[in-house]
Amino acid sequence: MKFQLTILGCSSATPTAERHPSSQVLNINETIFLIDCGEGTQIQLRRNKIKLQRINHIFISHLHGDHYLGLIGLLSTMSILGRTNDIHIYSSPLLQEVIDIQIKASDIHLNYQICFHFLNYEKLDLLFENKNVETFSFPMIHRIPTCGFLFISTHKEKNINKEVLNKENIPIEAIKQIKNGADFTTEDGRLLKNAIITKENVLPLSYAYCSDTIFDESIVQYIKNVDLLYHEATFMNDMATMAKEKFHSTTVEAATIASKANVKQLIIGHFSARYNDLSPLLIETKTVFDNTLLAEEGKVYSLSD
Ligand SMILES: [Zn+2]
Repeated sequence: MKFQLTILGCSSATPTAERHPSSQVLNINETIFLIDCGEGTQIQLRRNKIKLQRINHIFISHLHGDHYLGLIGLLSTMSILGRTNDIHIYSSPLLQEVIDIQIKASDIHLNYQICFHFLNYEKLDLLFENKNVETFSFPMIHRIPTCGFLFISTHKEKNINKEVLNKENIPIEAIKQIKNGADFTTEDGRLLKNAIITKENVLPLSYAYCSDTIFDESIVQYIKNVDLLYHEATFMNDMATMAKEKFHSTTVEAATIASKANVKQLIIGHFSARYNDLSPLLIETKTVFDNTLLAEEGKVYSLSD
């Protein structure tokens, strides 16, 4: 099971010479999710050797420019490079209007369909599921409607025990049913219980993305016990008043949420452009929640082996 997060952008409102606006890629067993799409995302995808056309699901947390202004460029490039597969975008309904007018004004002819799925800003909502993963949105408090996202790996199909498979000459045609829980009867009439032919599934892994948000303990219920939490820490704690005014969070506030939610590990990001050296932000966060990492662009954070 692969469960890998790659940070493409971890700057807040404006980019800096070193940091791009928000964007990241999550790979869960080769289902690739793009989370936010700030300016320059398609360049960052190239730089990090992530194939554009393998992205089928794009989640846009909210419509401040640092979270979506790279989208039209990416969608256009996907078409120029010959994409025909549908792309699914999870966002505010307003984004569809924005993209429609951009496509019309630029006379872009997409060779594929964009399927919009509108976010629910009131409650936890299942957005997408397949045999490997379930994805949810949940409401956050920011200056405009904003959602966080939760990704949980699932193992709806059981893993086959290959030793038993080979020993008992189980045909390929039977595997799908066995993975879904069926027993198997051998040619000589012996019943092999499903538990013998399959292996225990590994525990699910989970990742939550919380950017942008004011310090808000009501999100704790959605992100409880996740393995990895990305929480914005736009400001250091001496700027807590400004953070509140701008509906953002500080280092200590991100750490407090991580602690209250009992998450395993915290990544802080969405850093204000005023900070060149990020190490004081890390030190300050660790005073409240020790198992914290800084978001670093191009770095892969892996929860799997
Ligand atoms: Zn932002």
